[in-house]
Amino acid sequence: MTETIAAVVWFAGLIGWYIIRQPFHRRAKKVGVRNSLLDWRERALLAIAFLGLLVIPGIYALTGFPAALDYPFVPALAWLGLVPLAAALWLFRRSHADLGRNWSITLQVRDQHALVKTGVYRLIRHPMYSSFFLLGIAQMLLLPNWLAGLSGVVGAGLLYGFRVRREERMMLANFGEDYRAYMADTKRIVPWLV
Ligand code: SAH
Repeated sequence: MTETIAAVVWFAGLIGWYIIRQPFHRRAKKVGVRNSLLDWRERALLAIAFLGLLVIPGIYALTGFPAALDYPFVPALAWLGLVPLAAALWLFRRSHADLGRNWSITLQVRDQHALVKTGVYRLIRHPMYSSFFLLGIAQMLLLPNWLAGLSGVVGAGLLYGFRVRREERMMLANFGEDYRAYMADTKRIVPWLV
């Protein structure tokens, strides 16, 4: 694996990501929203995640900027990056499929919102955020640059860190005991651990 191939693999992963999300994005527009928490804070978090997982590494892949923060490329690490990349895409696909019409890019409760506890949601409450972290880890292993490599996990971490409690409060407010029992049975992003 060369540095260029690693960057192409990273980019192919993002295209895969986009292809997976598109149909859900299109469908989501047709489902009514009962309750939305889309405010400046949510927008800022989404923008930060987008910046860290796409814009910063994208600029690096295309231009090599900022070259001053490069470190030596290790082919074995790039090969290893394929594992979290494949896992991220698989989990992203599964979590969209399992959430179905309940999916939103932001924090929203939809008309006839159903609490999903099946599929990948049986073990963890936030598989989509797990897939963001996996994508960030893949980025770190594929791009040998301190800024472009690390910006993905930082972006994912900020989105997760500032959103997850709020999301769970929203779910508790809507699903009450049902969600509380679901929380007792599951972890957030790593099965049995976190
Ligand atoms: N945090 C989840 C979902 C992210 S999408 C994950 O990481 O997989 C965000 C939307 O999903 C929110 O608007 C919320 O209404 C919805 N959501 C989150 N968990 C859900 C669940 N278990 N069942 C149904 N909808 C859920």
